[in-house]
Amino acid sequence: MADSYWLAEPAPALRSRRLDGEPEVEIVGGGVTGCSCALALARAGVRVRLHEARTIAGGASGRNGGFALRGGAMPYHEARATLGSERARALWSLTERGLDEIRSLAGDAYRQTGSLRLASDAVERDELAAEFRALEQDGFAVAWLDELPPQLSGYVGGMRHFSDGALHPARWVRRLAEHAVDAGAELREGSRVESLADLRAPTVVIATDGYTQGLVPELDAVIRPIRNQVVTTEPLAELLFPFPHYARRGYDYWQQTPDRRLVVGGRRDADVTENTAEEALTPAIQARLESFVVELVGQLPEIAHRWAGIFGSSPDDRPLAGAVP
Ligand SMILES: Cc1cc2nc3c(=O)[nH]c(=O)nc-3n(C[C@H](O)[C@H](O)[C@H](O)COP(=O)(O)OP(=O)(O)OC[C@H]3O[C@@H](n4cnc5c(N)ncnc54)[C@H](O)[C@@H]3O)c2cc1C
Repeated sequence: MADSYWLAEPAPALRSRRLDGEPEVEIVGGGVTGCSCALALARAGVRVRLHEARTIAGGASGRNGGFALRGGAMPYHEARATLGSERARALWSLTERGLDEIRSLAGDAYRQTGSLRLASDAVERDELAAEFRALEQDGFAVAWLDELPPQLSGYVGGMRHFSDGALHPARWVRRLAEHAVDAGAELREGSRVESLADLRAPTVVIATDGYTQGLVPELDAVIRPIRNQVVTTEPLAELLFPFPHYARRGYDYWQQTPDRRLVVGGRRDADVTENTAEEALTPAIQARLESFVVELVGQLPEIAHRWAGIFGSSPDDRPLAGAVP
């Protein structure tokens, strides 16, 4: 089925709420960013209205791999080199607190499993070892693994991150949306903002990430959309990968759900056609993902769901937040 396994979970309709009076802030985009923003503003007593073109979590937030990871887009030792030690440590600590907050809000959409980052060759092993040393020096909980279980015999080392977790991402963001409604926010699904001139609030938050195209020309110049494709199998006989695993600098990622389905994504490297905002499957990436499933479990189980999602990449790999440039 060409849609997200996570979004296929039946969900009750979002409770509706209408604001009394005009909104002070309008948010465009109902993914994890927009819903978090709506919750924070509503809790602070701000009259906030959110517009989502599809359904809550209908973008990347309901189409991802379900990895809840500490840290930023770049490895920690590189972040120390580019941001400086103090800022890198502060950023990583901030993301740990973010994980704590997810745990407190997500209920059964989050499992505190830890994650495993793997090295596929000696070069990646050296990079990983450098990151491990930097994290350990700065007091972050990590463990180095030379010995790997038989199902990971193709890898040459790994690092466990204990503070990470596994999400059912659509369930999580829908829950976040419910918290925002409870706090007083108005969330409108099926509400595409065609032009910022159509909005009434004096302040507008753009939370459209990789789906931003055309709304704010200044952002088109800095957000590069990247497509990622994912497949999910029917439940496997064994639970071999009970927490998020990722390798080849994140280009391969996989985990099993509690009912033993294997969720596998990535394999987009060396394929420039994935630098696109078109949310479509391609035979080339799908074939690579199927081969990877065979590498992991020795045969090709039935694929139950296939989907694509778009995320946004910034020029320097740092979060893009603040006033429109
Ligand atoms: C396949 C894939 C796997 C990934 N795996 C992981 C992972 O395992 N862990 C992780 O942390 N990150 C992962 N990511 C990245 C992560 O999903 C995104 O960083 C995150 O979901 C972005 O959230 P967001 O709310 O900013 O954007 P989105 O969730 O994309 O939300 C943007 C929303 O804006 C809406 N929108 C756009 N234009 C308009 C408009 N004009 N009017 C109204 N609404 C509009 C869209 O419909 C969309 O719902 C992955 C991404 C993909 C695509």
